[in-house]
Amino acid sequence: MATYEADVVVLGAGPGGYVAAIRAGQLAKEHGGSVICIEREYLGGTCLNWGCIPSKAMIAHAERYQHVLHAKEMGILINGTVDYDFEQMQARKNKIVQTLRGGIGMLFKKNGVQSIEGTGKLIDPHTIEVTRPDGSKDLVRGKNIILATGSSVMKINIPGLEGENVWTSDDAVNAPFVPDSMLILGAGAVGVEFSFVFNALGGHVTVVEMMPHILPTFDEEIAKEAERALSKQGIQFITGSTLKSAERVGDRWRCYVETPNGIQQFDVQVVLIGVGRKPNVDGIGLETVGIQMNKRYVAVDESMRTNIPHIYAIGDITGIAPLAHVASMQGIVAAENCFGAARRMDYRAVPNVVYTVPEVAGVGLTEQQAREQGYEVRIGKFQPRILGRAMAVGERDGLVKVVADAKYGQILGVHICCSHASDLLQEAVLAIKLEATLDELVDTIHPHPTMVEALMEAFHDAAGHCIHKA
Ligand code: FAD
Repeated sequence: MATYEADVVVLGAGPGGYVAAIRAGQLAKEHGGSVICIEREYLGGTCLNWGCIPSKAMIAHAERYQHVLHAKEMGILINGTVDYDFEQMQARKNKIVQTLRGGIGMLFKKNGVQSIEGTGKLIDPHTIEVTRPDGSKDLVRGKNIILATGSSVMKINIPGLEGENVWTSDDAVNAPFVPDSMLILGAGAVGVEFSFVFNALGGHVTVVEMMPHILPTFDEEIAKEAERALSKQGIQFITGSTLKSAERVGDRWRCYVETPNGIQQFDVQVVLIGVGRKPNVDGIGLETVGIQMNKRYVAVDESMRTNIPHIYAIGDITGIAPLAHVASMQGIVAAENCFGAARRMDYRAVPNVVYTVPEVAGVGLTEQQAREQGYEVRIGKFQPRILGRAMAVGERDGLVKVVADAKYGQILGVHICCSHASDLLQEAVLAIKLEATLDELVDTIHPHPTMVEALMEAFHDAAGHCIHKA
């Protein structure tokens, strides 16, 4: 058994852990010190291997296929059949994942981060015992420890639904085929993104959502706009409904869905469970060292410290916001605090994006949240369909909505459903972070012709003088 020692030891190499390790490595170079990152599986964690990146590659394949199918609308003639090779698509996706994984390994080397392969658990407040892939054990001692073990898919019990062709999101990113028909449980980001992929590749997709509209954490009007746009593409959304049970009939799943109009029956090839993740908090020694929990999650303060000041926790195990970019920022904050900084997390401007076509993106308060918090609000809206750029690229669906404080014009929230919403959103993220007002935003020149003009027009609309609104 070997014993390793470092100033900062990070457990888990997802977007929280690996970013924390690199930032700690940079600081260790500057101030002296050493950093170790322990990972049991693949560098990059859920995001790189089963989440953000593979799903976006699949979305890109599906979107490109649709562009080619509709090329005639732009006067492009394809003589012959248009088809796709799903195996090749998946191989391309895997290659992207492998390349990025290798990139993290290189960044570790460049920044002096020692990477240790194995499964770790705290055995005392300064020591992690690591079980190596061959079963041998080592000890890693850290002055500071950052826990970043993330989350995993969770089994949901639906009576009768057990066995072949019941997929989790982990299975969906590694799908061996495109199902001819699919029922997706849950219309959150994961369910809706996969509904776009498999529908665009020719499957018949039904999405069952318990809440009254899809993407329940988004502004209602924007979510409904997305629902309209995606329904037009052929996706069937059954909202206010739950999957009660299922049975195997031949090679299909017969799903019984309780809807406001009674039980409806759907026969599908594959059921994808798009809901339910659990934090990876079991077996990592939290109770051994007495880490305080907040329900199922590790409790932390704004500096990302647990109740034991030299032990930090970041990312999905904190349950604060299950997003890669939040995990990464928490990782940077934790790493800098390990070196004596006094950084605090600021959650006022957390961007949230769904990468469908059109994209859906939001930051800050929804209209409903702003009103519930007692704000008198000014709302600005704009439909990108009349923009020259939207017409030129043939992507006209959508709505942009700005929520501003009526008194001072401070931007409280921005919600977007349109082509390139993810890129448009960053102006709003910065506006909220910097406490910008409508006056400042309408006094800002936006490039023409762009989709970002939709955001500019919505700012103008909230200020009461939208230029291009009929
Ligand atoms: P993880 O990424 O889960 O990483 C934790 C790491 O710790 C893993 O590598 C794990 O193997 C390792 N580990 C766990 N226990 C141990 C142990 N005992 N010893 C050693 N190592 C251990 N977020 C976005 O922001 N944008 C997106 O587009 C997006 N798309 C998604 C799509 C899907 C299908 C899914 C499932 C998620 C998506 N997410 C997205 C969410 C995002 O993946 C997570 O929020 C993010 O990965 C959390 O990062 P993390 O570092 O906390 O944990």
